[in-house]
Amino acid sequence: MAYIPYGFVQKQDDLFVDPKPAEVVQAIFHRYSNGDSLGGIVDFLFVQGIPSPTGQERWTRPAISKLLSNSKYIGYIISFEDYFAVQVDKGNRSNIDEDTNQRKATRYSSHNVLSGLLVCAECGAYYRRITRPSGEVVWRCANKVEHGKKGCKNEPSISETTIKEHICITLNIAGWDEEVIRSSIERILIRHDGSLEIDYKHEMRHILEY
Ligand SMILES: [Zn+2]
Repeated sequence: MAYIPYGFVQKQDDLFVDPKPAEVVQAIFHRYSNGDSLGGIVDFLFVQGIPSPTGQERWTRPAISKLLSNSKYIGYIISFEDYFAVQVDKGNRSNIDEDTNQRKATRYSSHNVLSGLLVCAECGAYYRRITRPSGEVVWRCANKVEHGKKGCKNEPSISETTIKEHICITLNIAGWDEEVIRSSIERILIRHDGSLEIDYKHEMRHILEY
């Protein structure tokens, strides 16, 4: 039998939301969004007497982390928006060591304005900047880069030039301007077909819609 994610129950061949565990999933997302740590959530569940999906008294931090990145919850238990907010938050917090609260050594250059903006619509991971031997710069889903098809089914690697052109046209600016990008774009979703969906910061949404 296929793996059934926590929060769902299988009847015949279909998955259904299991109300009680689904509430636990929502509580975990809610607590994380409100700044609780993975360890804090483990303690919370323990105090509430909520056993782990495998029936243990205590959940583990990796189990919580995995649950927070499970895209199966989108639309059924967690809204699209809340799910992606948590993925962005996870990305930011993964640079901070939870035990010491110190910044970890950064593994990837983060000074590029597009880092942390490009998000995979398939799995919610950030896109990563890759320089090909030819010198061409492309962006690919980090899950895809690290785990191949198992990590993410999303195919597109998109050239940086294409991304920049698309943004300039959409924002109606003559040239690439990091300050404008930084102040106006919240995140950019990259879809299966390589199309981009730009999510503007609140202030900008207002300006662009009128
Ligand atoms: Zn992906």
